[in-house]
Amino acid sequence: MLMSRKEFFEKSGKAVLAAGALGAGFAGMGASGCASSIGPFKLTYKTIRLHLKHAWTLSRNTSTYKDNVFVRLEKDGIFGLGEAAHNIRYNETLESTIQTIELARPIVENCDPWTFVHVGEAIQNVCQGQTAAKAALDMALMEWIAKKLGLPFYRFLGVDPKKAPRTTYSIGIDTPEVIKQKVREAEPYPLLKVKMGGPNDEEILEAIRSVTDKPLRVDANEGWKDKELAIRKIEWLAKNGVEIVEQPMPSSMLEETAWVRERSPLPIIADESVKSARDIPVLAQAFDGINIKVDKAGGLQEALRMIWMARSLNMKIMLGCMISSSLSITAAAHLSPLVDYPDLDGNLLITNDPFQGVRVRDGWLILPDGPGFGVKGTF
Ligand code: MG
Repeated sequence: MLMSRKEFFEKSGKAVLAAGALGAGFAGMGASGCASSIGPFKLTYKTIRLHLKHAWTLSRNTSTYKDNVFVRLEKDGIFGLGEAAHNIRYNETLESTIQTIELARPIVENCDPWTFVHVGEAIQNVCQGQTAAKAALDMALMEWIAKKLGLPFYRFLGVDPKKAPRTTYSIGIDTPEVIKQKVREAEPYPLLKVKMGGPNDEEILEAIRSVTDKPLRVDANEGWKDKELAIRKIEWLAKNGVEIVEQPMPSSMLEETAWVRERSPLPIIADESVKSARDIPVLAQAFDGINIKVDKAGGLQEALRMIWMARSLNMKIMLGCMISSSLSITAAAHLSPLVDYPDLDGNLLITNDPFQGVRVRDGWLILPDGPGFGVKGTF
Protein backbone atom coordinates (compact mmCIF):
# COMPACT_ATOMS: atom_id res chain seq x y z
CA MET A 1 0.00 0.00 0.00
CA LEU A 2 1.37 3.39 -0.97
CA MET A 3 2.06 5.85 1.86
CA SER A 4 0.93 9.43 1.62
CA ARG A 5 3.59 12.13 1.91
CA LYS A 6 2.18 13.01 5.35
CA GLU A 7 2.40 9.39 6.56
CA PHE A 8 5.93 9.05 5.16
CA PHE A 9 7.19 12.12 7.02
CA GLU A 10 5.40 11.03 10.22
CA LYS A 11 6.96 7.54 10.07
CA SER A 12 10.43 8.70 9.07
CA GLY A 13 10.21 11.41 11.74
CA LYS A 14 9.58 8.68 14.33
CA ALA A 15 12.51 6.67 12.92
CA VAL A 16 14.75 9.75 13.19
CA LEU A 17 13.55 10.27 16.76
CA ALA A 18 14.25 6.61 17.57
CA ALA A 19 17.71 6.81 16.01
CA GLY A 20 18.31 10.01 17.94
CA ALA A 21 17.37 8.29 21.19
CA LEU A 22 19.70 5.40 20.34
CA GLY A 23 22.47 7.82 19.49
CA ALA A 24 21.90 9.68 22.72
CA GLY A 25 22.08 6.36 24.51
CA PHE A 26 25.47 5.57 22.93
CA ALA A 27 26.63 9.10 23.60
CA GLY A 28 25.50 8.71 27.19
CA MET A 29 27.40 5.44 27.50
CA GLY A 30 30.46 7.07 26.02
CA ALA A 31 30.13 10.06 28.28
CA SER A 32 29.63 7.91 31.35
CA GLY A 33 32.60 5.75 30.25
CA CYS A 34 34.75 8.86 30.05
CA ALA A 35 33.22 10.37 33.16
CA SER A 36 34.31 7.32 35.13
CA SER A 37 37.90 8.48 34.41
CA ILE A 38 37.90 10.72 37.45
CA GLY A 39 41.04 11.92 39.14
CA PRO A 40 44.59 12.16 37.94
CA PHE A 41 46.78 9.43 36.51
CA LYS A 42 49.54 8.03 38.67
CA LEU A 43 52.83 8.08 36.76
CA THR A 44 55.73 5.90 37.94
CA TYR A 45 58.87 4.72 36.18
CA LYS A 46 61.89 2.50 36.69
CA THR A 47 65.22 1.98 34.94
CA ILE A 48 65.98 -1.63 34.04
CA ARG A 49 69.34 -2.76 32.64
CA LEU A 50 68.83 -5.02 29.62
CA HIS A 51 71.83 -7.27 28.92
CA LEU A 52 72.80 -8.11 25.36
CA LYS A 53 73.55 -11.66 24.18
CA HIS A 54 76.46 -10.35 22.13
CA ALA A 55 78.22 -6.99 22.30
CA TRP A 56 76.23 -4.80 19.88
CA THR A 57 78.44 -2.98 17.39
CA LEU A 58 77.30 -0.48 14.77
CA SER A 59 79.45 1.66 12.51
CA ARG A 60 79.48 4.28 15.34
CA ASN A 61 79.66 2.48 18.72
CA THR A 62 79.61 -0.75 20.78
CA SER A 63 77.47 -1.64 23.81
CA THR A 64 76.94 -4.70 26.04
CA TYR A 65 73.82 -3.47 27.86
CA LYS A 66 71.08 -0.85 27.61
CA ASP A 67 69.49 1.02 30.52
CA ASN A 68 65.90 1.52 29.39
CA VAL A 69 63.28 3.47 31.34
CA PHE A 70 59.92 1.78 31.87
CA VAL A 71 56.88 3.97 32.44
CA ARG A 72 53.59 3.00 34.12
CA LEU A 73 50.46 5.14 33.89
CA GLU A 74 47.62 4.10 36.17
CA LYS A 75 44.04 5.21 36.73
CA ASP A 76 40.67 3.52 37.40
CA GLY A 77 42.49 0.29 38.31
CA ILE A 78 43.96 0.04 34.78
CA PHE A 79 47.58 0.61 33.84
CA GLY A 80 49.29 1.31 30.54
CA LEU A 81 53.02 0.67 30.05
CA GLY A 82 55.70 2.33 27.96
CA GLU A 83 59.45 1.99 27.42
CA ALA A 84 62.15 4.50 26.50
CA ALA A 85 65.38 3.33 24.82
CA HIS A 86 67.50 6.47 24.77
CA ASN A 87 69.93 6.87 21.90
CA ILE A 88 73.12 8.91 22.07
CA ARG A 89 72.87 9.48 18.27
CA TYR A 90 69.93 11.78 19.04
CA ASN A 91 71.53 13.44 22.13
CA GLU A 92 69.57 11.32 24.56
CA THR A 93 70.97 9.95 27.84
CA LEU A 94 69.38 8.14 30.76
CA GLU A 95 69.41 11.43 32.70
CA SER A 96 67.81 13.48 29.90
CA THR A 97 65.18 10.77 29.46
CA ILE A 98 64.19 10.94 33.12
CA GLN A 99 64.26 14.77 33.06
CA THR A 100 61.88 14.75 30.08
CA ILE A 101 59.48 12.35 31.80
CA GLU A 102 59.46 14.68 34.84
CA LEU A 103 58.90 17.69 32.57
CA ALA A 104 55.85 16.01 31.04
CA ARG A 105 54.55 14.66 34.37
CA PRO A 106 51.96 17.45 34.99
CA ILE A 107 50.57 17.09 31.44
CA VAL A 108 50.26 13.33 31.65
CA GLU A 109 48.99 13.06 35.20
CA ASN A 110 46.25 15.64 34.72
CA CYS A 111 45.22 14.78 31.16
CA ASP A 112 41.83 13.72 29.83
CA PRO A 113 42.86 10.49 28.06
CA TRP A 114 39.94 10.78 25.64
CA THR A 115 41.67 13.80 24.12
CA PHE A 116 44.78 11.72 23.49
CA VAL A 117 45.64 13.52 20.23
CA HIS A 118 45.99 16.83 22.11
CA VAL A 119 47.79 15.12 24.99
CA GLY A 120 50.22 13.61 22.49
CA GLU A 121 50.88 17.05 20.99
CA ALA A 122 51.43 18.56 24.45
CA ILE A 123 53.92 15.81 25.29
CA GLN A 124 55.78 16.46 22.02
CA ASN A 125 55.98 20.16 22.91
CA VAL A 126 57.51 19.88 26.41
CA CYS A 127 61.01 20.22 24.92
CA GLN A 128 63.05 19.75 21.75
CA GLY A 129 63.98 16.16 20.85
CA GLN A 130 64.15 13.58 23.67
CA THR A 131 61.77 11.42 21.69
CA ALA A 132 62.47 8.16 23.56
CA ALA A 133 61.00 9.60 26.78
CA LYS A 134 58.02 11.05 24.88
CA ALA A 135 57.50 7.69 23.14
CA ALA A 136 57.30 5.87 26.48
CA LEU A 137 54.63 8.28 27.73
CA ASP A 138 52.58 8.13 24.52
CA MET A 139 52.87 4.34 24.51
CA ALA A 140 51.60 4.09 28.11
CA LEU A 141 48.70 6.44 27.37
CA MET A 142 47.67 4.57 24.21
CA GLU A 143 47.85 1.24 26.00
CA TRP A 144 45.71 2.58 28.85
CA ILE A 145 43.07 3.71 26.34
CA ALA A 146 42.96 0.35 24.51
CA LYS A 147 42.78 -1.50 27.84
CA LYS A 148 40.00 0.80 29.07
CA LEU A 149 38.07 -0.03 25.90
CA GLY A 150 38.89 -3.73 26.38
CA LEU A 151 40.55 -3.97 22.94
CA PRO A 152 43.88 -5.24 21.65
CA PHE A 153 45.70 -2.17 20.34
CA TYR A 154 45.60 -3.50 16.75
CA ARG A 155 41.80 -3.61 16.96
CA PHE A 156 41.72 -0.07 18.27
CA LEU A 157 43.79 0.89 15.18
CA GLY A 158 41.51 -1.10 12.87
CA VAL A 159 44.26 -3.24 11.36
CA ASP A 160 44.43 -6.97 10.63
CA PRO A 161 47.40 -8.60 12.43
CA LYS A 162 47.54 -11.31 9.74
CA LYS A 163 48.62 -8.70 7.19
CA ALA A 164 52.01 -8.11 8.87
CA PRO A 165 54.96 -9.00 6.59
CA ARG A 166 57.88 -11.11 7.83
CA THR A 167 60.37 -9.48 10.16
CA THR A 168 64.18 -9.49 9.99
CA TYR A 169 66.76 -10.57 12.56
CA SER A 170 69.80 -8.31 12.94
CA ILE A 171 73.45 -9.27 12.89
CA GLY A 172 75.75 -6.60 14.43
CA ILE A 173 79.30 -5.90 13.29
CA ASP A 174 81.79 -8.46 14.64
CA THR A 175 84.69 -10.74 13.82
CA PRO A 176 84.01 -13.31 11.06
CA GLU A 177 83.91 -16.18 13.59
CA VAL A 178 81.33 -14.47 15.84
CA ILE A 179 79.28 -13.40 12.81
CA LYS A 180 79.11 -17.00 11.63
CA GLN A 181 77.92 -18.02 15.10
CA LYS A 182 75.29 -15.25 15.12
CA VAL A 183 74.02 -16.36 11.71
CA ARG A 184 73.72 -19.95 12.96
CA GLU A 185 71.79 -18.71 16.03
CA ALA A 186 69.49 -16.84 13.63
CA GLU A 187 68.52 -20.13 11.96
CA PRO A 188 64.76 -19.72 12.74
CA TYR A 189 64.65 -16.34 10.98
CA PRO A 190 64.42 -16.42 7.17
CA LEU A 191 65.44 -12.76 6.64
CA LEU A 192 68.59 -11.20 8.06
CA LYS A 193 69.55 -7.56 8.49
CA VAL A 194 73.29 -7.03 8.52
CA LYS A 195 75.11 -4.07 10.02
CA MET A 196 77.89 -2.71 7.81
CA GLY A 197 79.55 0.64 7.16
CA GLY A 198 82.84 -0.21 8.88
CA PRO A 199 86.26 -1.10 7.41
CA ASN A 200 85.53 -4.85 7.07
CA ASP A 201 82.25 -5.01 5.07
CA GLU A 202 83.70 -7.56 2.63
CA GLU A 203 84.84 -9.82 5.46
CA ILE A 204 81.37 -9.64 7.05
CA LEU A 205 79.55 -10.59 3.88
CA GLU A 206 81.99 -13.40 3.14
CA ALA A 207 81.45 -14.82 6.66
CA ILE A 208 77.67 -14.68 6.26
CA ARG A 209 77.63 -16.19 2.80
CA SER A 210 79.84 -19.06 4.01
CA VAL A 211 76.98 -20.06 6.33
CA THR A 212 73.73 -19.04 4.58
CA ASP A 213 72.18 -17.93 1.31
CA LYS A 214 69.19 -16.21 3.00
CA PRO A 215 68.09 -12.84 1.59
CA LEU A 216 69.86 -9.98 3.35
CA ARG A 217 69.11 -6.35 4.10
CA VAL A 218 72.07 -4.14 4.87
CA ASP A 219 72.22 -1.19 7.26
CA ALA A 220 75.31 1.00 6.82
CA ASN A 221 74.31 3.34 9.69
CA GLU A 222 75.77 6.39 7.83
CA GLY A 223 79.10 4.57 7.51
CA TRP A 224 80.00 5.31 3.88
CA LYS A 225 81.15 8.93 3.75
CA ASP A 226 81.83 9.14 0.01
CA LYS A 227 79.23 8.79 -2.78
CA GLU A 228 81.51 6.83 -5.14
CA LEU A 229 82.32 4.40 -2.35
CA ALA A 230 78.62 4.08 -1.45
CA ILE A 231 77.51 3.21 -4.99
CA ARG A 232 80.39 0.73 -5.39
CA LYS A 233 79.32 -0.99 -2.16
CA ILE A 234 75.65 -1.08 -3.19
CA GLU A 235 76.41 -2.56 -6.62
CA TRP A 236 78.55 -5.22 -4.95
CA LEU A 237 75.79 -5.97 -2.39
CA ALA A 238 73.17 -6.28 -5.16
CA LYS A 239 75.25 -9.07 -6.70
CA ASN A 240 75.33 -10.89 -3.37
CA GLY A 241 71.66 -11.38 -2.55
CA VAL A 242 71.06 -8.09 -0.73
CA GLU A 243 67.55 -6.64 -1.19
CA ILE A 244 67.65 -3.23 0.51
CA VAL A 245 70.26 -0.77 1.78
CA GLU A 246 69.55 1.42 4.77
CA GLN A 247 71.16 4.81 5.41
CA PRO A 248 74.26 4.37 3.25
CA MET A 249 75.57 7.89 3.92
CA PRO A 250 75.47 10.44 6.77
CA SER A 251 72.13 12.21 7.18
CA SER A 252 73.89 15.51 6.41
CA MET A 253 74.73 14.24 2.87
CA LEU A 254 71.27 14.39 1.30
CA GLU A 255 72.42 15.53 -2.17
CA GLU A 256 75.07 12.82 -2.36
CA THR A 257 72.47 10.24 -1.27
CA ALA A 258 70.14 11.43 -4.06
CA TRP A 259 73.06 10.95 -6.49
CA VAL A 260 73.60 7.41 -5.16
CA ARG A 261 69.91 6.57 -5.31
CA GLU A 262 69.67 7.58 -8.97
CA ARG A 263 72.32 4.98 -9.78
CA SER A 264 71.41 2.36 -7.19
CA PRO A 265 70.12 -1.07 -8.27
CA LEU A 266 68.64 -1.48 -4.74
CA PRO A 267 66.03 0.55 -2.82
CA ILE A 268 67.57 3.01 -0.34
CA ILE A 269 65.87 3.48 3.02
CA ALA A 270 66.33 6.49 5.34
CA ASP A 271 66.85 5.87 9.04
CA GLU A 272 69.08 8.44 10.76
CA SER A 273 67.78 11.04 8.21
CA VAL A 274 64.21 10.78 9.48
CA LYS A 275 62.65 11.16 12.90
CA SER A 276 59.15 12.57 12.46
CA ALA A 277 56.52 13.07 9.75
CA ARG A 278 57.70 16.59 8.96
CA ASP A 279 61.12 15.25 7.87
CA ILE A 280 59.66 12.97 5.20
CA PRO A 281 58.65 15.14 2.16
CA VAL A 282 62.18 16.43 1.52
CA LEU A 283 63.59 12.89 1.76
CA ALA A 284 61.42 11.60 -1.08
CA GLN A 285 64.01 12.98 -3.56
CA ALA A 286 66.86 10.90 -2.07
CA PHE A 287 65.29 7.76 -0.63
CA ASP A 288 62.82 5.06 -1.69
CA GLY A 289 61.54 4.58 1.83
CA ILE A 290 61.88 5.40 5.50
CA ASN A 291 62.59 3.46 8.68
CA ILE A 292 60.11 4.42 11.41
CA LYS A 293 60.96 3.69 15.03
CA VAL A 294 58.56 4.51 17.84
CA ASP A 295 61.42 5.75 20.07
CA LYS A 296 62.68 8.04 17.31
CA ALA A 297 59.21 9.33 16.40
CA GLY A 298 58.27 10.18 19.99
CA GLY A 299 55.35 7.77 20.20
CA LEU A 300 52.85 5.54 18.46
CA GLN A 301 50.73 8.49 17.36
CA GLU A 302 53.63 10.16 15.53
CA ALA A 303 54.69 6.78 14.09
CA LEU A 304 51.19 6.48 12.59
CA ARG A 305 51.39 9.97 11.12
CA MET A 306 54.71 8.97 9.55
CA ILE A 307 53.12 5.88 8.02
CA TRP A 308 50.38 7.96 6.35
CA MET A 309 52.84 10.63 5.22
CA ALA A 310 55.21 8.08 3.66
CA ARG A 311 52.32 6.29 1.95
CA SER A 312 51.05 9.57 0.49
CA LEU A 313 54.49 10.07 -1.06
CA ASN A 314 54.54 6.50 -2.41
CA MET A 315 57.49 5.59 -0.20
CA LYS A 316 58.27 2.17 1.29
CA ILE A 317 58.09 1.75 5.05
CA MET A 318 60.39 -0.16 7.34
CA LEU A 319 59.37 -0.43 11.01
CA GLY A 320 62.50 -0.66 13.11
CA CYS A 321 63.36 -0.60 16.78
CA MET A 322 66.05 0.06 19.35
CA ILE A 323 67.44 -2.58 21.73
CA SER A 324 64.30 -2.93 23.83
CA SER A 325 62.23 -5.41 25.81
CA SER A 326 59.17 -7.20 24.46
CA LEU A 327 57.05 -4.34 25.78
CA SER A 328 58.25 -1.77 23.28
CA ILE A 329 58.69 -4.32 20.48
CA THR A 330 55.13 -5.61 20.94
CA ALA A 331 53.72 -2.07 21.00
CA ALA A 332 55.44 -1.38 17.66
CA ALA A 333 54.38 -4.76 16.27
CA HIS A 334 50.74 -3.64 16.47
CA LEU A 335 51.62 -1.18 13.64
CA SER A 336 53.37 -3.84 11.54
CA PRO A 337 50.36 -4.71 9.32
CA LEU A 338 50.72 -1.16 7.93
CA VAL A 339 54.35 -1.45 6.80
CA ASP A 340 56.46 -3.22 4.15
CA TYR A 341 59.52 -4.28 6.12
CA PRO A 342 59.15 -4.97 9.84
CA ASP A 343 62.52 -5.06 11.61
CA LEU A 344 61.40 -5.80 15.15
CA ASP A 345 64.04 -7.87 16.84
CA GLY A 346 65.43 -5.70 19.69
CA ASN A 347 63.91 -8.08 22.27
CA LEU A 348 65.54 -11.10 20.63
CA LEU A 349 69.00 -9.64 21.23
CA ILE A 350 68.71 -9.42 25.06
CA THR A 351 69.03 -12.09 27.76
CA ASN A 352 66.79 -10.71 30.55
CA ASP A 353 63.54 -9.61 28.91
CA PRO A 354 61.10 -8.61 31.71
CA PHE A 355 58.11 -9.05 29.37
CA GLN A 356 56.51 -11.57 27.06
CA GLY A 357 54.56 -10.38 24.06
CA VAL A 358 54.83 -10.70 20.29
CA ARG A 359 56.38 -13.97 19.09
CA VAL A 360 58.12 -14.73 15.82
CA ARG A 361 57.42 -17.97 13.96
CA ASP A 362 59.35 -18.54 10.73
CA GLY A 363 59.75 -14.76 10.51
CA TRP A 364 56.04 -14.04 10.95
CA LEU A 365 55.04 -11.78 13.83
CA ILE A 366 52.34 -13.29 16.04
CA LEU A 367 50.61 -10.62 18.10
CA PRO A 368 49.08 -11.43 21.48
CA ASP A 369 45.35 -10.74 21.58
CA GLY A 370 44.87 -9.49 25.14
CA PRO A 371 43.69 -5.91 25.72
CA GLY A 372 46.21 -3.12 25.15
CA PHE A 373 49.52 -4.42 23.83
CA GLY A 374 48.72 -7.85 25.32
CA VAL A 375 52.11 -8.18 27.03
CA LYS A 376 52.65 -10.28 30.15
CA GLY A 377 54.85 -8.90 32.92
CA THR A 378 55.22 -5.64 34.77
CA PHE A 379 57.78 -3.91 36.99
MG1 MG B 1 69.17 1.69 10.86
